[in-house]
Amino acid sequence: MKSLDKLPFNNAFFDLGSDFYQAKSPDPVEGPFLVHYNRAVGGLLELPENTDNDPAFLDYFSGNKEFPGAQPLAMRYTGHQFGSYNPNIGDGRGILLGEIETSTGVKWDIHLKGAGPTRFARGFDGRASLRASIREYLGGEAVHGLRIPSSRALGIIGFKELIFRQMPEIPAILIRVAESHVRFGNFEAFHYSKKTKHIEKLANYVIWRHYPHLTQESDKYRLLFRSVIEKTASLIAGWQSTGFVHGVMNTDNMSIVGLCFDYGPFGFMDSFNPHYIPNSSDKQGRYSFSKQPEIGFWNLEKFALTLTSLIDGDALNGELARYQECFNLTYRNLMAAKLGIKIIDSDFKTLTGNLFEILYRHRIDYTNFFRLLSRFRNGDIQPILDRFADPTDIEKWFNEYGEVLNKENSDDLTRQHEMKRVNPRFILRNHLAQRAIESALKDSDYSEIDKLIFLAQNPFIEDDTLLEKRQIDPEIYFADSPTQFAGSQTSCSA
Ligand code: AMP
Ligand code: MG
Repeated sequence: MKSLDKLPFNNAFFDLGSDFYQAKSPDPVEGPFLVHYNRAVGGLLELPENTDNDPAFLDYFSGNKEFPGAQPLAMRYTGHQFGSYNPNIGDGRGILLGEIETSTGVKWDIHLKGAGPTRFARGFDGRASLRASIREYLGGEAVHGLRIPSSRALGIIGFKELIFRQMPEIPAILIRVAESHVRFGNFEAFHYSKKTKHIEKLANYVIWRHYPHLTQESDKYRLLFRSVIEKTASLIAGWQSTGFVHGVMNTDNMSIVGLCFDYGPFGFMDSFNPHYIPNSSDKQGRYSFSKQPEIGFWNLEKFALTLTSLIDGDALNGELARYQECFNLTYRNLMAAKLGIKIIDSDFKTLTGNLFEILYRHRIDYTNFFRLLSRFRNGDIQPILDRFADPTDIEKWFNEYGEVLNKENSDDLTRQHEMKRVNPRFILRNHLAQRAIESALKDSDYSEIDKLIFLAQNPFIEDDTLLEKRQIDPEIYFADSPTQFAGSQTSCSA
């Protein structure tokens, strides 16, 4: 455990040179206050137990005081936004302080999002609203809790100024913690400015930091690309199996280590709907639920273009061709686990296809259906039947499901146990996040954030006594979203 002024900060990205970033310290803020502290992430970083009570905490993480050893910078990147290349992006409001290395040798990037305008701010204010910061904070924790790789945050610090979005808003700084902040867009910046040597340098940095086992390989760049493909496919398979929709899959939001990254207008699907679009600005549905796997591929193609000086075209195409199979394999395994099925054959395919059709036609809550399905032949499935105005379709499907389970001699109790470990009871529903945001903004009451962080970190929780202790009512937090909120959207405004 180290005190804050002794945190072992380094910033290896700084060594790449000034073409890769703008060296800049966070702008100071007036009256910083703690909105929420994430003890779990504090533990990951090996911070002292009560760091959040240390007065220096607010000074350091609001950017008012500089960490010894940190070399703050704003990363340079570009990217494809909604299908078009934008050469003028870069991190307009996020400052990478550097990385902290733990006693086990793990390195965590510490990044302050909303730390003031950088060279890349394009006239924007360089700040983030408390509203959007709470959403990103909760989103990262919820996705991580579902065992999907994600950026997380050490907490949120608000401060006493006002920023303007559609209306005056309270600003905040999100203390983002991630293995990496490198995006496909960092490579694109140099590809389109024809700085080939910089691409090689960046690829070597990424290998050194994130894929060190490739360092000695003769075709290390090809293997790097392969790993990025695999991680991206597996990330998106995780999204598809849990009903998560990122909302803004621009290449500048695609992580080089396959993290779910840069949370804006994301959403978890309520009732099953392949066309669900969480982002109210995405009128064409480019980033709808069912489009995510193909957009993942499209983004990887854009990434591949940046590597043409390091890997020959045939090799790049050969690697890209593996994406679909890689996605399918992971996705099928995840869905089979959700259904408690071991044998993945044509019956499995028919069974899942039929189920999706039924869930869509009857507008059935995706998460709760699967959680309740673990009761099949183990308890009361009436709560499933009650969700159907006419249960004929689902009863027929139950017969097909039962036959598949018989075929593989499924043990009912074992299956129930296993299904509850992969089918969450809790997802971050939009209306719950919204309630937490409103209490925070109107009443400076952060207790709802606290409850949601607990649930995000324990989405498979069974023991209701743990919920009682925290005054978490399962009837509210685990229920289907009320009809007026189901399928709701948020805007990009941040
Ligand atoms: P995002 O939609 O949050 O991924 O942002 C897209 C780009 O715009 C990123 O490069 C951000 O850094 C930048 N950006 C978004 N909001 C602001 C802001 N308020 N001030 C400066 N830059 C911003
Ligand atoms: Mg972004």
